[in-house]
Amino acid sequence: MTVAHHLPEREFPLRIGLDLDNTVIDYGPAYPLIAAEMGLSEGWDRASIREQLRRPDDDQGWRYFQSVLYTRGLDHAQPATGVLDFLADCRAGGIGVVIVSHKTPRSHEDDSGQDLHTPARRWLQRTLHAPGLIAVDDVHLCPTRSAKVATIGALDLPAFLDDLPEVLSDPGFPAGTLPLQYTHAVATGELTPDGWPGVGFPWLHRWLRRDRRPNR
Ligand SMILES: [Mg+2]
Repeated sequence: MTVAHHLPEREFPLRIGLDLDNTVIDYGPAYPLIAAEMGLSEGWDRASIREQLRRPDDDQGWRYFQSVLYTRGLDHAQPATGVLDFLADCRAGGIGVVIVSHKTPRSHEDDSGQDLHTPARRWLQRTLHAPGLIAVDDVHLCPTRSAKVATIGALDLPAFLDDLPEVLSDPGFPAGTLPLQYTHAVATGELTPDGWPGVGFPWLHRWLRRDRRPNR
């Protein structure tokens, strides 16, 4: 049986932008570890942890969880399924890749004001920079969402991949950039409720290989 992959008719772009947290970085293994530390007893994925920690008038618990996730949690995070192979083929095929992330220098999520950039830079260094998959200068950490979409516009990116619909639908998101939503690792490009292709890195890689075969 052939699985439909809903690849776009257009050619794979010469440059592409990627979000960082929950797109390039998969925090999956970190969730249960931090949940256990915080004494949660069940449902150790993002959605159920958020459900357990959020209160109607107080989301301090969930905000604290996130500040731990984006600092110590990075020790347990992993590259998203297929992202390393995809980046290696982008490099081999001359496709420019940049990362544009909304990441404040310090956590506003709890009173500790933890440094968020250093742990992220360390993860990037050992996972993507050291193997030569992406250059340090091609990672942009932006303090606000509006700065992030402005950066996507300033870089004139033909396509951008993000897990958050609110980024892709932001009024400042450039009209000339194809929005792609990271939904899950084995997504096949079916349109999300917002009308964007829902994709993972294996799908992006398939699109890349369709259009940029070696020796062509
Ligand atoms: Mg994200």
